[in-house]
Amino acid sequence: MRAVFIKDFGGNEKVQVGELPEPEPGRGEVRIAVKAGALNHLDIWVRKGRPGLELKKAHVLGSDAAGVVDKIGEGVTTLNVGDEVVVNPGVSCMTCEFCRRGDHSECPSFKLLGFQLEGMYAEKVLVPACNLGPKPKHLNWEEAAALNLSHITAWRMLFTRARFKAGETVLLHGIGGGVALAALQLVKLMGGEAIVTSSSDEKLARAKELGAAAGVNYKTSSDPGADVKKLTGGRGADIAIDSAGAATLPVSFAALRRGGRIVTCGVTSGPEAKINIQMLYWNHISFMGSTMGSHEDHRALLRAVSHTQLRPIMDRVFPLRDAAQALARMEAGEQFGKIALTV
Ligand SMILES: [Zn+2]
Repeated sequence: MRAVFIKDFGGNEKVQVGELPEPEPGRGEVRIAVKAGALNHLDIWVRKGRPGLELKKAHVLGSDAAGVVDKIGEGVTTLNVGDEVVVNPGVSCMTCEFCRRGDHSECPSFKLLGFQLEGMYAEKVLVPACNLGPKPKHLNWEEAAALNLSHITAWRMLFTRARFKAGETVLLHGIGGGVALAALQLVKLMGGEAIVTSSSDEKLARAKELGAAAGVNYKTSSDPGADVKKLTGGRGADIAIDSAGAATLPVSFAALRRGGRIVTCGVTSGPEAKINIQMLYWNHISFMGSTMGSHEDHRALLRAVSHTQLRPIMDRVFPLRDAAQALARMEAGEQFGKIALTV
């Protein structure tokens, strides 16, 4: 079967498209005939190499996929061959205290498909049966693949961590990326207001077309945090959703109201930032981390998407053989929306 894999860490020149043996499902696993995959920044972190990640053999890239159940492993009773499914890429033990209370992404042995585990950019992939959800019927295969990692992450950040409520104002950094756009869609869906930031006026304009109330260009603004606060009439935003890290944290602190919540899920601008602890306690700020989501977050997301006919914002679709080109587009930050691969 054809697959996208790396044998060494490095740049896009390490990304190979070639033949690998077809995997056989073990106990509790299901084999999927993949119809489409979708890119995430995680693919680039994995390709470059992460501490603790060893390549013993060809490592298939990719965390997001949608496809058709092709073969059922022993003990699986919840799925049938031919079912159309999407993949929740977070794999947990399902038996520890955190898994049993439904916080699967807090499991001590939590791992991600495409990161520590074999990825999804292949014609056939193995996934634990409990990680599959029904494909929303109104989506095409590329949209269905694109819905998962970034939307689950945004879902958990907004609802489970920040406890977002209708009427609140949410600051979304780096609009154009998968998590920020997913959060924009969910904030609008649930009756909130979104203020977005970007270095591109074009991306800010497109975000407004999608329902953002206002945008701030952090390259041309002398004080983006103050500008966001001005846009809220001096009150400040309720929540900041951030995947950029070091560069945007001071902006979030300056832009929030007292009692505001900052939720972070990524470090595309760097992992280390200074925090003024006085600002944290004096302003009653909650500063939270979040990674992926639980199976319940995934199911709730799929139900909300089906009920509202929401479609993820798509950038471009590439054939599987052009995976390196697709990764280069994401790495350059040119995209607005999800980049997908047709398998
Ligand atoms: Zn667990």
